[in-house]
Amino acid sequence: MILPWIQLENYYGQNLVRPYRDNFVYATRNSTFALLCFGDSAGGRDVALFQSTSLHAEVNALRGELWDRIWAQVGNRKSGNPRAIITLAINRSSCCGCAQWLSDALAELRTLGASRGDRFIVAARGIYEDAAMDTRTTDQDLRKLFGAGWEQQVLYTPRPSIPHDPTRDGLPPYGQQLYDGLARLGVSTPDPALLP
Ligand SMILES: [Zn+2]
Repeated sequence: MILPWIQLENYYGQNLVRPYRDNFVYATRNSTFALLCFGDSAGGRDVALFQSTSLHAEVNALRGELWDRIWAQVGNRKSGNPRAIITLAINRSSCCGCAQWLSDALAELRTLGASRGDRFIVAARGIYEDAAMDTRTTDQDLRKLFGAGWEQQVLYTPRPSIPHDPTRDGLPPYGQQLYDGLARLGVSTPDPALLP
C-alpha cells in the first residue's frame, strides 16, 4: 500500500524523476502537483509534471501530450507493444471530480485494448481532507478508482534528513489517513508495492 519515492527514481530513472522530488516532499495537501510516469518492458521511459491551474493537476495530466502517447502505445495492444507501468504520483488524493475523470480515462483505455498486463498506479501522499472523508475524497471515490483498475498506493516522500521508514508509522498524519482508508475498504494491493 506504500510506494516509496525512491522506487519511482529506480524504475523510471533518477535523471527523469529526481528533479521533481521537492514538489512532493515539501508540498502541502493544498498545493497540487501530479507527476505522470510512463515505463515499459522495452525500456521506454517518460515523465511529465503537471500543476493545478483552473483545473486540478490530474485533469491537466490527462490532457497532456504524454497521456496521448500512452494512449497511442497502450491503447494499440494488437501491434504487440511491450507491457507498460504507468504511475500518477499526486500530493493528495483525488477529489470526486478527478476520481471520475481518472476512472473514465482508464475504462476507455481498457476498451481500446489495455489489458491486465499493463499496470496503472495512482499514488497520493495523503488524503485530501480530514479523516471523515465525506466531501473531497470519499470512500466511493476510492472504490471507483479501484473498480476502474487503478492500483492505489500511499506515496512515501520523506524529507531527506529523516531516516527511511516506508511503513504506516513513517507516513505523515494525512498519509496515515489514506493508508487506513485503503486498508479499511480493501482497495489497495498489499505491501510492498514494488516496481520491477
Ligand atoms: Zn480534483
